Amino acid sequence: MSRTILEGWISQESARKMFALAGISPDIMNQAKKKGFKPVDLHLQTSMVINNTIKKSTSHNVLGILPGTKRPQECVVYSAHWDHFGIGEAIKGDSIYNGAVDDASGTAGVIELATAFSKLKQKPERSILFLAVTGEEQGLLGSEYYASHPVFPPAKTVADINLDVMNYYGRTKDVIIYGMGQSELDEYAARAAAKQGRVTAPDNHPEGGWFFRSDHFNFAKKGVPGLYIGPGTDAIGHEPGWAAEQIATYNRERYHSPKDEFDPNTWKLDGMVEDTRLLFDIGLTLSNEHTFPKWKPGSEFKSLRK
Ligand SMILES: [Zn+2]
Repeated sequence: MSRTILEGWISQESARKMFALAGISPDIMNQAKKKGFKPVDLHLQTSMVINNTIKKSTSHNVLGILPGTKRPQECVVYSAHWDHFGIGEAIKGDSIYNGAVDDASGTAGVIELATAFSKLKQKPERSILFLAVTGEEQGLLGSEYYASHPVFPPAKTVADINLDVMNYYGRTKDVIIYGMGQSELDEYAARAAAKQGRVTAPDNHPEGGWFFRSDHFNFAKKGVPGLYIGPGTDAIGHEPGWAAEQIATYNRERYHSPKDEFDPNTWKLDGMVEDTRLLFDIGLTLSNEHTFPKWKPGSEFKSLRK
C-alpha cells in the first residue's frame, strides 16, 4: 500500500492490549471519533509474516451501453456483481453457493433497468452503462478492473448506482442509504423516494463499513460519486423491528453460505420492484441533466473529483 507496509483490522481487545503496551489510555479510541484528532505514535515495533497461496483464474465483466441521444460521451452507471462463491465447502450436504440475494437480486435489477431504459420512447441524453462485474466477493476485483480500464473516463462518469443485496421481504416505507452524507446523490434519492411516498434513512450500522465494501467504492476511489442503497427497515404491514430481524437473520444464517437461495415461499418481491423503480428514477434524472452531482464537504473522496 502507498501509506504503510501493512494495513488491516484488529479487534478492540487487541487494540486495548496495544495501548497498554504503549502506556496510552484506551480513551484514545473515543478521542479518535472526534474531528481534528491527530494520530499518535505508539513507539511500538512488531514483526509480521503473511503466507499467501495465489490462484489465478480468468473471469469477465459483462457490460451493455445505451448510447445517449445528446451527450453520449457522458454516462451514468448501474452496477451489480454477478459472481458469488460457486462451489465451496459443503454445509449440511449443500456445496452450491447460489448467492440468490447476494447478488443475483442486484444483477436481476440491472437487467430489468436495462430493459426499462431501452423501452423508453424518449431515450436518455447521456449514455447509460449497465455493468455486471465479476470477482466482487474476492475483493471487488471486477469493478477495480473496470475503474482502471474504463469505457467512459471518470471525469465523464456522472455516478455509479450500485445494486448489491436487494429487498426480498416486501415493501418498506424507507430505503437505506449506505454512506449517507457522502454526496449529493443523497438528495436525488430523497426526491425519488418522496415521489413514491417514502423516505430515505441512514444505515444504523455504519461500523459495518458497507459503503467501503461494494463495487461503487472503486468508482469513488476515482472520484465518481456512488449511490448504494439497502433494503428498508420500516416494513409495511409489520411491527417495528420486524425487517431489521429479517436482515439480521439473513446475515447470520444465509449470507455467504449455501443457504442464500431463492425461496418462493418466503420471498416477496414487491419491495425489490419498488426499490428498483426508485433507482430507475434517479438514473433517469441524472441521465438528462447537464450537471454532475458533487461529493459533500468532508467526504474523503471529494478531492479526487477535482
Ligand atoms: Zn454482494
